[in-house]
Amino acid sequence: METKTFDLEEKRLEEEIIKREAKRVLIQLPEGLKDEGSRLASIVEQAGAIAIVSADPCYGACDLVTLEAKNLGIDLIVHYGHSPMLKEGWTQVLYIEAKAKVSPQVAVRRAIPFLENWSKIGLVTTVQHVHTLEEAKKLLLKSGKTVAIGDAGHVKYSGQVTGCDYTNAKAVSKEVEAFLLIGGGRFHAIGVALATVKPTIVADPYEGRAYNVDKEVRKIVNQRWGSISEGKEAKKFGVLIGLKSGQRRLELAMEIKEKLEKSGRNTTLLALKEITPEALFQFPHIEAFVNTACPRVSIDDKTRFRKSVLTPNETLVVVGEMSWEELCKKGWFENTT
Ligand code: SF4
Repeated sequence: METKTFDLEEKRLEEEIIKREAKRVLIQLPEGLKDEGSRLASIVEQAGAIAIVSADPCYGACDLVTLEAKNLGIDLIVHYGHSPMLKEGWTQVLYIEAKAKVSPQVAVRRAIPFLENWSKIGLVTTVQHVHTLEEAKKLLLKSGKTVAIGDAGHVKYSGQVTGCDYTNAKAVSKEVEAFLLIGGGRFHAIGVALATVKPTIVADPYEGRAYNVDKEVRKIVNQRWGSISEGKEAKKFGVLIGLKSGQRRLELAMEIKEKLEKSGRNTTLLALKEITPEALFQFPHIEAFVNTACPRVSIDDKTRFRKSVLTPNETLVVVGEMSWEELCKKGWFENTT
């Protein structure tokens, strides 16, 4: 990420520190913006507070540093790059969304030929580009498309998606033939395609180019089928409980343990903050895992793990409570948002 590309709202940062009379501030930045930490810390200190920058990885608003803030006696968390996700808990949080300062024009124009087979388009984006959705919509309308932007009321903005919340895409999925995602990289577009089972095109404003993600999505679906097949053979399971504030699904983990045990499988609940191959290697007797934390770890990092790391819905297929067809229809994010 180039920092000149994002609005880090330095003036608002300073004003909020003064207005809230914050004395000790913990700054949390996503990967790629971490190096801005020193500069932002100086702004916080000029405004009269002590600044500490979190050096731990941060991939989403699910990962708010609330426990760390308690440990450090923090009175304000400044969280960059995401919009609020947690419904309760720590209230002293200043979200700065790091809006991108790039126009979607070139990328959307280049995406139009990719959409030639469809006339009803669903428009989605990440928080970095929500302010450019209307501009993108106008271009699509001008090219003769109809455009639907969903608002399921689950995330902050209409048309916004996150790595595991595609409720806005699903809200309009029935009325559109394909989706156009405004944003960088394939990650969110793959999520839209998996959640809606609709063709999804990326219009990448950073690179001014467009492409589809069909190939990657087909590969992932095949991999998921492989993981489920391995899971069906496994007799000893570990159910992973995420310790990040927005990834903790203890009830769901206990429900899954019950289902697995009912199906004759031995199951252990395991709690951890980062789900890594190294952490899972420590349990060689376990034959397959179920991940109730970030679903993208199971889906996108599949090749890093030696054993199956199933999502909750995939586990329902393993125990015979859901068919593969139903899973494909429901998508992979049903239990996680
Ligand atoms: S759970 Fe995963 S996909 Fe969802 S916001 Fe957190 S890091 Fe992103």
